[in-house]
Amino acid sequence: MAINLSGPDISQAEIDAVVEVLKSGRLSLGPKIEEFEEKLAAYVGTKHGIAVSSGTCGLHLLVRAFGIGRDDEVISTPFSFIASTNCVMFEGAKPVLVDIDPSTWNIDESLIEAAITPKTRALIPVDAFGEVASMVKIEDIAKRHNLKVIEDSCEALGAKFQNRMAGAFGDAGVFGFYPNKQITTGEGGMITTNDDEVARLCRSMRNQGRDTGMGWLSHERLGYNFRMSDIQAAIGVEQINRVDAILGKRTQVANWYRERLKDESRIEWQHNDPACTRSWFVFVIKLADEYSEQQRNDLIANLRERGIGCSNYFAPIHLQPFYMEQFGYKEGDFPICERVAARTIALPFHNGLTTADVDEVCTTLESLL
Ligand SMILES: *Cc1c(COP(=O)(O)O)cnc(C)c1O
Repeated sequence: MAINLSGPDISQAEIDAVVEVLKSGRLSLGPKIEEFEEKLAAYVGTKHGIAVSSGTCGLHLLVRAFGIGRDDEVISTPFSFIASTNCVMFEGAKPVLVDIDPSTWNIDESLIEAAITPKTRALIPVDAFGEVASMVKIEDIAKRHNLKVIEDSCEALGAKFQNRMAGAFGDAGVFGFYPNKQITTGEGGMITTNDDEVARLCRSMRNQGRDTGMGWLSHERLGYNFRMSDIQAAIGVEQINRVDAILGKRTQVANWYRERLKDESRIEWQHNDPACTRSWFVFVIKLADEYSEQQRNDLIANLRERGIGCSNYFAPIHLQPFYMEQFGYKEGDFPICERVAARTIALPFHNGLTTADVDEVCTTLESLL
């Protein structure tokens, strides 16, 4: 690909930090984990940060920490990455989906209450593409129905809603640090929470069920190895040290695109709630409704042929074959999600892009449209 879809922003500081850990001999369960946890929690504004091996593992641990299991239901959005709801399935519970808001593309909070049953235990709203979900209203719904809220903030590090940071809403938040995210550790994730008990349980379950201060072969509960290594945490520390610069550059690239495409009537945008300061994760456009899914797919194929990395992002969760098979979901169940998902395209988006790259992407896109 001449212009890649995504790419990490790695400086000499990250490279030096990794070398230092390698020379230290403490490659895991060392001091870098705590340093990264403290820095990230301070940035998000939560009491605790619990580093884990991926965002997916963070979501999974929280589902377990809240005791969600067989016969329970958890409400989430079909317009997300599949990890948002697989975490529920892994514990034998049922993900119940509700459609999205046609403008923000996040879960439509006005549909949540109708989906609540006596089995509902939690809500997992997702901050899609760095736009914070309607978290204040969602917290209110959860309170009234005695539900837990896990904020899937994997795409929203640094986003704010009414001056609260993404990941600081609900009972706990989760971040992911795969290389296409705002900051990366290669693979990795972080749970953020103000709840001491949730933090304690997650720390224990990520580390084979050991409790703090317990011996290596003493296990208080069922756990797993969901640990992050010190090599990864060292990268995370340097990334969070540079987070303002990294996010600033991403905003600049997004603004180049928005400026360049602002008069393009064949393209629509995810609405940015004025109460939300977006943290740019991906740059996603939506073709106008007169375009078909096939035309969108052809456009993606043609862009790729011309060396421009792009993707159909997201594919609706409820239309993944094993969701259709297991829960009976079918086409037409969530029409707004399907209408949006059939027409979205993620364009190349990372800090290495120049104005010339953005111009080339947009010129090619317009000529193909
Ligand atoms: C990336 C992502 C995850 C999972 O994060 P990983 O670190 O890749 O496991 C979960 N939810 C959403 C919405 C994501 O974008």
